Amino acid sequence: MDLQRYNTFRVRAQAPSIRVIHSVEEANSALHQLGAPPYVLGEGSNILLVDDLDRPVLINRIKGIRVVNEQDNTVDIEIGAGESWHAFVQWAVEQGWGGVENLALIPGTAGAAPIQNIGAYGREIADVLLRVSGLYFNGRRWEWLQLDRQQCRFGYRTSIFKQELRENFIVCGITLRLTRHHHDLCVSYWSLKKWLEQRDIPNPNVQTIFRAVVDIRRQRLPDPEVLPNAGSFFKNVFVTEEQFQRLKGQYEDLPVFAQGGMYKVPSGWLIEKCGWKGKRLNDVGTYARQALILVNYGTPNGRDIYHLAGRIMRDVYDRFGIVLEPEVQIWPHHYRDNLYQEYAIPLPAHRARENQL
Ligand SMILES: Cc1cc2nc3c(=O)[nH]c(=O)nc-3n(C[C@H](O)[C@H](O)[C@H](O)COP(=O)(O)OP(=O)(O)OC[C@H]3O[C@@H](n4cnc5c(N)ncnc54)[C@H](O)[C@@H]3O)c2cc1C
Repeated sequence: MDLQRYNTFRVRAQAPSIRVIHSVEEANSALHQLGAPPYVLGEGSNILLVDDLDRPVLINRIKGIRVVNEQDNTVDIEIGAGESWHAFVQWAVEQGWGGVENLALIPGTAGAAPIQNIGAYGREIADVLLRVSGLYFNGRRWEWLQLDRQQCRFGYRTSIFKQELRENFIVCGITLRLTRHHHDLCVSYWSLKKWLEQRDIPNPNVQTIFRAVVDIRRQRLPDPEVLPNAGSFFKNVFVTEEQFQRLKGQYEDLPVFAQGGMYKVPSGWLIEKCGWKGKRLNDVGTYARQALILVNYGTPNGRDIYHLAGRIMRDVYDRFGIVLEPEVQIWPHHYRDNLYQEYAIPLPAHRARENQL
């Protein structure tokens, strides 16, 4: 069965079967029938299919949004994994609740949000997440498991669901804690700050921030419905003090952000410096306004995007000695490491460790 309509790169790949699940019960019975873990998809906005899959695909459409607890200033909300993330954010903002407004317009499902700890404009889902509930495969059978925020081991675009629980946990629901009246608003991100300054809004509220984020994102990011893509293809890079000093000596215009004892370098800048911004090779290329986004101009073949990614990674490595790491999940899974091998780029140490899990 063809997965082209189930991924935002709109590339073709076959799966032995596709099953859409609408409830925990349906998930349970599908998983018991399948035995071994399937591939799980939400809206396919963070995957690149390079080849046909050898395992069935489960598409999560478990719906439902429910307030489970209310305190003076907080509200806890349980969200079905198959709910649209942006629709939920919009609904929360309409209630006047704070905590997710910076994460507006991120495509995909609520259940996929904790997998890579979605983040934007200075916020991550980890900031508001209370727990994740789902089905865990213990090697023999599926069992119900709940993890609190600590147990999710969130990091920059990562979590336990990309490590120990990769491929053996299916998120069925997430619970978030939002604020009702006194909000801890985050407007430190430069483009957000600029948007508010330009409109002379010194005291924004949850709704204004939501509007700002939606407006900025619409101007900067390609709509996958119009130009198929999966958002940022690579993660930003963290370098040590020593690497930072070396780079700064060579490139005065290097944009860096100190964070937790390391320095964050925007991968988009590195790619742009290598001359890739807005470049097109046949039916694939990088977006004209943001080199970090790979776009599909019409190829049905995920390999074309895979090879574009490899060439970019190679160029960045040759010029800066920095290894870019895809943020997008590459399926089938072995292609993830093949990309490094094919383009003779060293595998990041944490990737090698993950492979041993
Ligand atoms: C235009 C654009 C802009 C984007 N901007 C951002 C951004 O600002 N910040 C950001 O963080 N991301 C961004 N993304 C990436 C993407 O939107 C997020 O990663 C999103 O959470 C993916 O949701 P999905 O439902 O499409 O997941 P999918 O692409 O379907 O799946 C992604 C991964 O999650 C797993 N998964 C999905 N659902 C489940 C489940 N229920 N249980 C277990 N595993 C599951 C899949 O197996 C896969 O490994 C952007 C993407 C696009 C196209």
